[in-house]
Amino acid sequence: SALPLFVPITLPNGTTYQQPTGLFINNEFVYPHAKKTFADISPSTEEEITQVYEAFKEDVDTAVEAANAAFHSSWSTSDPATRIKVLYKLSELVEAHAETLAYIEALDNGKSLQCSRGDVALTAAYFRSCAGWADKIKGSVIETGDTHFNYTRREPIGVCGQIIPWNFPLLMASWKLGPVLATGCTTVLKTAESTPLSALYLATLIKEAGVPAGVVNILSGFGPTAGAAVASHPKIKKVAFTGSTNIGRVIMKAAADSNLKKVTLELGGKSPNIVFDDADVESTIQHLVTGIFYNTGEVCCAGSRVYVQEGIYDSIVAAFRKAAEGLKIGNPFDEETFMGAQASKQQLDKILKYIELGKKEGATVITGGERLSKKGYFVKPTIFGDVKEDHQIVKDEIFGPVVTITKFKTVEEVIALANNSEYGLAAGVHTTDLNKAISVSNKINSGTIWVNTYNDFHPMVPFGGYSQSGIGREMGEEALDNYTQVKASDAVTIRTRK
Ligand code: NAD
Repeated sequence: SALPLFVPITLPNGTTYQQPTGLFINNEFVYPHAKKTFADISPSTEEEITQVYEAFKEDVDTAVEAANAAFHSSWSTSDPATRIKVLYKLSELVEAHAETLAYIEALDNGKSLQCSRGDVALTAAYFRSCAGWADKIKGSVIETGDTHFNYTRREPIGVCGQIIPWNFPLLMASWKLGPVLATGCTTVLKTAESTPLSALYLATLIKEAGVPAGVVNILSGFGPTAGAAVASHPKIKKVAFTGSTNIGRVIMKAAADSNLKKVTLELGGKSPNIVFDDADVESTIQHLVTGIFYNTGEVCCAGSRVYVQEGIYDSIVAAFRKAAEGLKIGNPFDEETFMGAQASKQQLDKILKYIELGKKEGATVITGGERLSKKGYFVKPTIFGDVKEDHQIVKDEIFGPVVTITKFKTVEEVIALANNSEYGLAAGVHTTDLNKAISVSNKINSGTIWVNTYNDFHPMVPFGGYSQSGIGREMGEEALDNYTQVKASDAVTIRTRK
């Protein structure tokens, strides 16, 4: 018999809720054309949580039709107050359902409850911030002489396609849906195949918040099938993708080969985290730890290359090691746990492969360097010393709790080291000298610089990559630009002859 469209799931806190399993199209959960399902696995127990329905190309077509009809309804031209109202309501609903969402996310992704509670708070904050943007979308009047009246408007771009990863399933959904709702666009969002649950739950809140049918459509499915159908769909006017740099290229090609849809990409990174001799050791250690071990290192902007000035190197290495060894890893639902499980078997294997490669390349394991010997995809916080710039573990994004640490002498030297990467997503600078902080920040090739902090996010601050870390920015006013297009209107005064 067919999988029901809602299944009861009992969370580790004893709460039982109804998990949607279908595709969310036109504000309803529906069966896909093929009625095929796939298993969703809990990374901390390696057991199946539930099956969910899988979208294929035909389902993407159905969802795009719904999104297209919704775009051409009153949604895209309505009073911004309508959009403020639903975004604000949505942020309140996310807060009202915060614990359930946090438990779902920890169950599905493996991350600790500490992390998932943070994700939920940022999700609510971002929807609220977008509510504030919805009535601040502005055009301009451009002076062109008194016989012309030239003005610009920012119009919503249309039906969007959005493809998100598994490391922050709910938060990435909010970064995509917030600007869609603020600008009057509509969307077909495809979640990552290993973490479909929280976005489906969010869909119920989207409907409850009063978002009109067809504005937001959410599909569970795989990249080469449903994802590819989104990227190449002729009626999708813009695609927003977060994921690996390799698939970013695939998305861009698909956009070019189909209808030249606009493309924004949030991709990988290998971000430097720099510690100068004059840094405050205690707070720096905290930010080195947050930089690489927060969310089990599955963070695109993770501070995975630590560079420490020679005068402070030994004390930083000792303190960083001690802090890493003191982190609690394990059951995501234990309130004390800092690091839960890696998100999938595939990700676990990738990380362990890089750890072995690091050892083979001749780097020294300062701490960690192995899987925790228990069920679930747990990896010990790992610090590598004695690394060379051409080691794969220094160049490649590992996307796990693995960091390299390197000694440097001068400011010029560390700027060159920091910039020696194909990526440019983020960087950290730790110093108590303001002049150094600013001058180094200005010379680093990355979209975000954190000074005396790390992985610190604010909904009103833009985030995105230089170089091969991406195209475009999410959050802040910049995010609205991705979802609008500028129309320039030129009106001429007609001079009537007497
Ligand atoms: P991935 O690129 O394979 O998957 C990401 C998403 O793309 C998933 O939804 C997947 O189904 C989809 N996808 C895969 N192949 C596709 C295709 N051919 N066409 C369309 N969609 C396709 O990435 P991954 O390996 O699962 O995730 C880890 C990577 O994501 C890391 O490299 C990390 O840096 C990156 N990431 C970046 C950010 C950011 O904000 N820059 C955030 C999270 C993750």
